[in-house]
Amino acid sequence: MTTYTAPLRDMRFVLHEVFAAEKTLTALPGLEDVTADVMDAVLEECAKLCQNVLHPLNQSGDLEGCTFKDGQVITPKGFKEAYKQYAEGGWCGLTASPDFGGQGLPEALDYFVAEMVGSANLSFGLYPGLSQGTMLALAAHGTVELQQMYLPKLVSGEWQGAMNLTEPHCGSDLGLLRSKAVPNGDVSFSVSGTKIFISAGDSDLVDNVVHLVLARLPDAPEGSRGISLFLVPKLFVNADGSLGARNALSVGSIEHKMGIKGSATCVMNFDGAKGWLVGQPHKGLACMFTMMNKERMFVGAQGISQSELAYQNATAYAKDRLQGRAEDGAKRPDKAADPILVHPDIRNKLLYARAVVEAQRALALYAHMQVDISHRHADAAVRERADDMAGILTPIIKAGGSGFGSEITNLCLQVFGGHGYVREWGMEQMVRDVRITEIYEGTNTIQSLDLIGRKLGLGGGRLVKGFMAETDLLLARAKGQTVMAEFIGPFKDARDKLAACTQWIVDQSQADPNLRGAVANDYLRMFTITCMAWMWVLMVEAALPKKDSGDSFYATKLQVARFFIAKVLPQIASLDALIRTGSAATMAVPEAAF
Ligand SMILES: Cc1cc2nc3c(=O)[nH]c(=O)nc-3n(C[C@H](O)[C@H](O)[C@H](O)COP(=O)(O)OP(=O)(O)OC[C@H]3O[C@@H](n4cnc5c(N)ncnc54)[C@H](O)[C@@H]3O)c2cc1C
Repeated sequence: MTTYTAPLRDMRFVLHEVFAAEKTLTALPGLEDVTADVMDAVLEECAKLCQNVLHPLNQSGDLEGCTFKDGQVITPKGFKEAYKQYAEGGWCGLTASPDFGGQGLPEALDYFVAEMVGSANLSFGLYPGLSQGTMLALAAHGTVELQQMYLPKLVSGEWQGAMNLTEPHCGSDLGLLRSKAVPNGDVSFSVSGTKIFISAGDSDLVDNVVHLVLARLPDAPEGSRGISLFLVPKLFVNADGSLGARNALSVGSIEHKMGIKGSATCVMNFDGAKGWLVGQPHKGLACMFTMMNKERMFVGAQGISQSELAYQNATAYAKDRLQGRAEDGAKRPDKAADPILVHPDIRNKLLYARAVVEAQRALALYAHMQVDISHRHADAAVRERADDMAGILTPIIKAGGSGFGSEITNLCLQVFGGHGYVREWGMEQMVRDVRITEIYEGTNTIQSLDLIGRKLGLGGGRLVKGFMAETDLLLARAKGQTVMAEFIGPFKDARDKLAACTQWIVDQSQADPNLRGAVANDYLRMFTITCMAWMWVLMVEAALPKKDSGDSFYATKLQVARFFIAKVLPQIASLDALIRTGSAATMAVPEAAF
């Protein structure tokens, strides 16, 4: 059985002391009332819900899983009651517009909610998580009629949303999509096709499911330029808002899978189901990206959430488990052995987890604040800069959060030895649960190709230049501050290596079409680690003045920062070397030799 305590101290540190969020957020139109007190109150309430309601259902939800009977999806025992409490607490519409009953709170706060809910119960979090993206896409691209009909009930949590992209023959390459939508002669369409792997495609938590479905119109061009987006409800909605007849769609089955067993992953059959166009014909993929970008950040938060949960439980175990003696003399001579925390290797594993998770939390908060600025700032140039930064960080948060999530849950399982491998302690569930985060919402390879293939090239390299300029500001600020030298020097070195490597990739890929694909994952990891170093320097900047305050939090921050610089950041050098070997060795082996 695992335990979870929301890391509120660390969340408040990054929110208030590192990023002075109150100052930035209350200056944005619509967020004037989001004071530090309001933010703290939201965090505390969310922590209580996660610790007391959602986490106790985590292991039982995994053991029981979802079931499918007589065409109905049944979630594990307790999920329905917990969801009711979640919805009644207003959590489903945390960031939604007050015009539709939402709380209008910033994305920055939503990050923390996603992290806490993910740590407490990754499977449960997917139900409201998918609704959030649905609301965003509908608010951005839906007609006023569709918004008025569907948004209030999505915001209240009475209904939920689902994202229908994947088909049996079409996953990463959405251009292959076959689902069809035929005009009915009025404003509606008949949508037909089979979608697979649809999270929260159906459940017993809500009265209605609002499906966003990608399909092709009869005159659609081939490939990804011929895809349109449709809203297809499970039950029709009458003019007075009440629920009517059932639409022509059904759940074919649910998947039996490695992890997130409390989350229903559905095969959805659309058999001429009535739907309504969202956005312009053939521009559906761009509309869907409003949802996908939100969900990509959400998946990054899921990865970070499992790293945090694994770290907490492995640390508690390492303090308790007695095996062997410390090399530098017994620490508990009164006991038969010392706690395994005395062993350098166990410390390496735990500190690696902590150094990564704290930096990733800071980075995710920073990225979400950029989203808030890009949505709300009065100055268009500031909005564009923030949008660029959020754009380049989205694949890094998604793939970095999930990739390190897998690595860290595995390391923390190892801290338990054989006790990590058996069910009782709950560690193997984390390893199984987090694994999907590397796959869905675009695999991590697709994220790295987005970074290296698309984001690097946008606007003649404007995004990466913006990133470098932002880090330059920090370097300029820290210049001459000798107390910062031990942190800023290694960060600058990493940042400069990343800049040089980026230029090398741009130059070399002109002559080698396979180069980007061969180095993309290593490049994304190099970028992620550089971003984490950047965050550590910002955290050091905030902690240094308080290191002698008597609050050990700050002194520990500096120690963990030193661990990051010593034991994590040097990966940059090997990644740099790896990338510069290019594609030759990868492509030399002929297809027939595999
Ligand atoms: C539990 C679960 C929940 C999911 N939830 C949803 C959901 O709610 N809605 C939804 O629409 N989908 C959902 N998915 C689908 C998920 O997004 C896809 O599985 C994912 O995008 C990968 O597609 P695929 O499985 O078809 O793999 P493929 O696209 O067939 O990829 C196979 C492998 O090839 C690699 N690959 C593919 N193309 C390239 C390329 N161009 N370059 C290099 N490598 C490449 C991939 O990285 C991968 O390793 C879910 C999946 C699961 C398992």
